[in-house]
This record gives sequence, C-alpha cells and structure tokens, in this order.
Amino acid sequence: MRRRRFLIGASLSFAAGPAWGQAEKPARFSVAGALAQGSLALGSAPRGSLVALDGRPLRVTADGRFAFGFGPDQTKPSLVTVRYPEGGGDSRAFTPAVRHYEIQRINGLPQKTVTPPPEVLARIAHEAETIYLARFTDSGGADFLSGFDWPAPGLESGVFGSQRIDNGVPVSPHYGVDMAAPTGTPIRAPADGVVAICDDYYLDGGFTLIDHGQGVSTSYLHQSKRLVKAGEAVGRGQRIGLIGATGRATGPHLHWAMNWFQLRLDPSLSTRKPKPDPL
Ligand SMILES: [Zn+2]
Repeated sequence: MRRRRFLIGASLSFAAGPAWGQAEKPARFSVAGALAQGSLALGSAPRGSLVALDGRPLRVTADGRFAFGFGPDQTKPSLVTVRYPEGGGDSRAFTPAVRHYEIQRINGLPQKTVTPPPEVLARIAHEAETIYLARFTDSGGADFLSGFDWPAPGLESGVFGSQRIDNGVPVSPHYGVDMAAPTGTPIRAPADGVVAICDDYYLDGGFTLIDHGQGVSTSYLHQSKRLVKAGEAVGRGQRIGLIGATGRATGPHLHWAMNWFQLRLDPSLSTRKPKPDPL
C-alpha cells in the first residue's frame, strides 16, 4: 500500500516518511521551508535524481536541489515525486498550512493610480505583460539556496495576502511585504541574482525584478532611484535602489515581492534573520 503523509503546520524541515510500500524505509529526499500557503519550498534529493511536481518535471541542480511554491490560497497537497539515479523512487504529498489574511483599507492613494485614466491603460497592460513574461524565466542558477535577507529596514506597514480596499475600491490582494522608511533609504539585494527588469512603471513606480534561478524571483517597487540595470548580476547586500513613493503609493515604502514563476509568494517566510528595526 502506498502511504502518503499530509503535512499540516509550519515545520522548518521535513524528512519525508515511508516510501512505496516499504513501511520503515524513509524517503531519501527532503523539503524544507515554512510549508505554509504562499511560501517557497526548498527540496534536496540525491545527486542525479529526477524530480516532478504534480507530475511535471522540475529543474534540479547538479547536486539535487530544487524549489517550488505553494499558492497563497492553496488547500490541495502538492505531490513531489523523486526518481533516484540508480532506480527506484519516492513520492510524497505536502499540504501547506492554512493562513488567515487580513482586510486592509488604504486611503489617500493618488486617484489616478486606483482608477487609472484610459490613456494609460495600454501602458499599464504592457508593463504587466513585461513582468509576466520575465517570470517565465527558468534559469539554471540557484542563488535562492542561500536564503534571503530583508532588503531594507523599516516598519512593516503591509503584510502579504491582505485583501486591499484602496480609496474605497476593492482591488486584488496585497501580494508583497511593505517596509515603510524614509525616501532615500537604501535597498539591498537579499541574495545573489541577475536583474531581469529595471524600469519606471506607472503603478509600480521605480521597479526592479531580480532572477534568483529556477523560477524564483524577487521584485522591488516604488523606488525613488534605481541603481542597477537589466542584465546585471547583483551580489547579496549590494545596493540596488532607494526607497521612494513612486507609482501607487501613499508614502515612501518598499513593496517587496517574491514569485515562483507566476505564483505569488510571501518573501517574509524565506528570510534568514528577524526583520531589521524600523529607522
Ligand atoms: Zn505593497
């Protein structure tokens, strides 16, 4: 009989349980992370393994590391299947812990950013498409393996997943973490990566997207100044921009987002250390 373990609750590391019908033999792969809705999961399998997520192949590093995300509202398990290089394999289901998201009302946003005028709709659509396409990138790098630092100090003025009501109008949930700090506060790369986009966008303001490999990316919105260029490799801790209030913002803050391909993730669930004190 094939047994699966359904995991509920936040655990920092999970060594998978019994294999195909072999009750006592532990699986030889593990998945680590918050294991909650909207979190990045990091897997480790023997060198040379093949890995699939829900039946679709995943990119795996030469030493058996892989990543995937749990959707912000995902309630079904994700099935990870690993085939070992010498034959045989294991399959395990991981169900993310359920989170409860807040409702947040934001007033005082520039009205032209809540209901943009018709003449900018094409520009907004083009910018959204550019970001969408960049997030398809499946590069071979694995810079995400180092974990992530908080990219800026500041008061956490917005949390991931909250239902936003902007100037009284319900908008899509807030898929990022807001760090409020004065304009000009440096933003630092939380991990190594390659800059995929660095541009001025209508809603996002000064916008930078960094590719950390295998579909894992982070982005930085509302910057007053951008200090890197598309195509540039950035190192962990490098200044990539300055906090600002450009685009759809009421005041200076960094909106920090993380994705696994198109899936929206909460970067605060992947940070290595507690968040820095507000300025
Ligand atoms: Zn935000």
